[in-house]
This record gives sequence, C-alpha cells and structure tokens, in this order.
Amino acid sequence: MKSNIIYLDNNATTCVDKKVVDAMMPYFTEQYGNPSSIYDLAHTANKAVRKSREIMRDFLGANDPKEIIFTSCGSESANMAIKGVLELNRAKKHLITTKVEHPCVLNLHKDLEKHGYKVDYIGVDSNGDLDAAELLSKVDKDTALVSVMYANNETGAIFPVEEIAAKVKEINPETKIFVDAVQAAGKIPINVKDTKIDFMGISAHKFHGPKGIGALYVKSGSMVSPLIIGGHQERGKRAGTENVPYIVGMAKAAELAMENMEDELTRVKCLRDTLEEGILSKIKNARLNSTSKNRVPNTTNIGFLYIEGELILLHLNDAGICASSGSACTSGSLEPSHVLRAMGVPFTSLHGSIRFSLSRYTKEEDINYVVQELPHIIDKLAKISPFQKELGEILNK
Ligand code: PLP
Repeated sequence: MKSNIIYLDNNATTCVDKKVVDAMMPYFTEQYGNPSSIYDLAHTANKAVRKSREIMRDFLGANDPKEIIFTSCGSESANMAIKGVLELNRAKKHLITTKVEHPCVLNLHKDLEKHGYKVDYIGVDSNGDLDAAELLSKVDKDTALVSVMYANNETGAIFPVEEIAAKVKEINPETKIFVDAVQAAGKIPINVKDTKIDFMGISAHKFHGPKGIGALYVKSGSMVSPLIIGGHQERGKRAGTENVPYIVGMAKAAELAMENMEDELTRVKCLRDTLEEGILSKIKNARLNSTSKNRVPNTTNIGFLYIEGELILLHLNDAGICASSGSACTSGSLEPSHVLRAMGVPFTSLHGSIRFSLSRYTKEEDINYVVQELPHIIDKLAKISPFQKELGEILNK
C-alpha cells in the first residue's frame, strides 16, 4: 500500500481546500452570531452571508444575488426545485427528464409517477450524449417541468442545457427548466443569466467546499414553493438559521474554482487524456465508455472487458488509488450502473467499468503511477476471470 493516497474519485467528493477551512473557521468560534439578530456580532455574520451570495451569483453567472438560495446539498436543491414547481402548478401532470440523472432527480421522478405524474425518460447514445431531439418532441402543453443534468457524474458528458431550455420555451413558454449542475460547477464556466434556465442546483463538496451545503439558483420571476417551512430565512423560500460557516466555505470554494478554471480546462484535461491514452495503449481489454468530445475535463469512464469492477477497485485500493464503479449495491447484489445501461454498454464491460475523476490536486506523477500499476492489476484479475476463452481472444491478438 502506498503511503500517500492517489485520489481519483473527485466526482464522489473532493477534499476541502485549506483556504476554504481558513475562511470558515472564524464563523464557528468568533463570528457566530445569528444573521437575523440585531447586534453587531450578528451583522458580521449577516454581511458574510450577503457577500457569499454575491460570490455565488458570479460563480453561476446569475443576474442578482437574490436569485441564490442556500440549501444543504445538491439533492435538496433538486428536490426543492422539482417539488416546488409542481406544488405551484398542480394542474399540469407531465414531466420530462433523462434516464441518466443522479438518483436525487431520477428517484424523485419515479416517486412522482406513483402520485399521478406522467414522466418521459429520455435516453442517451452509446457515448452518453443526450437525444435532445427526442426530448423536445415530448414537450407539450401539459409539460410542467423539464429536468436535465448539465454534466453526467459517471461519464462527464455535458448536455446542451442552454439550447434545450431555449427550445423548450419556444414550444411551451410555461414549462419550467431545472438543471442539476452539481458535476458542472467548478469544472466548466457557467453563465445562467443569458439562458432560459429557471432553476439550477449545485453542491459545494464537488468543488473543494464542505459537505452539507449547496445552492439553488431561482431565476427572477420564476416561482418555487418552499420545501422547508418555518422562519423567514432565504426570503421565505428556505427556512432554518443560515449555516454561516458553510455558506462562507462554499463561497470561498467557488472563488477558488473560478481562479482555477483555466487549470481545470487545460492541465487537468491534459492529465485525464494522458490517463486514458496510457490505459488504452497498455491494456488490451480496456474500452473507453464515453468518447464524447463534450465532456467535463476531469472525468473518464473505462470498461475492462470480462473483469469484475469491484475487484479492480479493491486492488486499486491496495495500491493506494481511489476510484469508483457506477455499480450500486442493491439487496446484496451488484446492480450495474443505470447510466452505462442507458448507454447500451455491452454486458462484457458493464460490470467492469471504472470511473476516474481528477481535480486540481491531481499531479502528473499520480497519473503515471496509475498507468504503471493498473496493467498489473488487470493482468492478475484476467488470470482468475471465468471468461478465459473470450479474454484470451482479446489479449492474444
Ligand atoms: N447531482 C449529481 C449529478 C451528483 O453527482 C450528485 C452527487 O453525487 C448529486 C446531484 C447530489 O449531491 P449531494 O451529494 O450534495 O446531495
């Protein structure tokens, strides 16, 4: 086991930047006032929340800080937008989303189906790119909401959310648009003000901020009913005393992400490409699951034919490397990723697919080490694979 961890699971979560921790600390022990109180201590906290809201406006390219609502996570942002729209518009019963959304959107839609909603789930092609034409063909006068993710957490594929939003509004100006931007924020520039997007959710722990804090963008003029009812915080849209240290932390993380955007788009992308090329050139049974040119710069998803993904992860862990597979453990058996299934990834690599997701902390030597170690791991696992004949045909080519 390597003493220092090589962390390539940044789409699951990221390490909190030390500058973020430093920015948060005073708000625990010194500036701990409740932003709603009237004395000076509270004013400092209130000012910090206001400043943070302005930074988040800039991060998302919104018009007005009032368009930012602080939430506890990406899942809450999605639930608030989706349930909040439907609550205000009970007459319309048609929803559109995609087959590859994060469970916080997908499972919510499945639940809504039980409550009388009709949902169209739009598919993706073998690269993970969305069939936007199919999506648009489903919009009608009864469509209350379209929910489309900005970037997919497993493949990194970026969906044309701005174009989709504009075209949906041409077909039905009353249809609302929610975009889950949890995997896009901090990885690609976002400029929501020039779009027709009504709601956008993000989560700080995906861009080197703390876990347990997120935001929902609500375009001026777009209405959403609150998920949490109580006090007047967040202009009545989300009750609960503001989590000042975490709000400050998310804003600091957003500031740093904006400063590091160029690094993400060039150096991190280059490292990701080096990783892909290294693995594909050295491992004969490796296949890129998404070759989409339109991917966030930090993500790759690679299938290893006839090898069990969880075994690869365990061996990577022994080598000090953290990555992930899209499989979900349901009732004791491993359910292959719904994203890879929607892409039609063949059975031969469906169970042996690994997602590597980099960050601004990833170094060239990390990637070199993975490219050096992984072939040995796959070689070892190929020897115990039950598919010796099929593997032999690929490896001996
Ligand atoms: N949406 C996407 C695309 C995600 O990848 C995630 C987390 O993995 C979420 C939403 C949920 O975010 P959170 O963990 O902050 O609830």
